[in-house]
Amino acid sequence: MKIDLDAERIPVSCPYCGMQHFERIGILRHAPGLVCVACLETFRMQPGQLDFILESAHRSMDDLSMRLGSPLGTRSR
Ligand SMILES: [Zn+2]
Repeated sequence: MKIDLDAERIPVSCPYCGMQHFERIGILRHAPGLVCVACLETFRMQPGQLDFILESAHRSMDDLSMRLGSPLGTRSR
């Protein structure tokens, strides 16, 4: 099973006004510059921030698939 991360939206906060935007990873990957809809300032994601988000997303997906793949035989009384 392959999940297309590029279609996922992640929260990105505007450094000027703190407004939270949800942007697709695919867009951020190719054009990290964003325009805030609230204050109309342009800003970029910090270097490494996207990498960090992608890495943690991959990790949680691995964790999820591991949990889905394991038998549900560990029922607690
Ligand atoms: Zn803003």
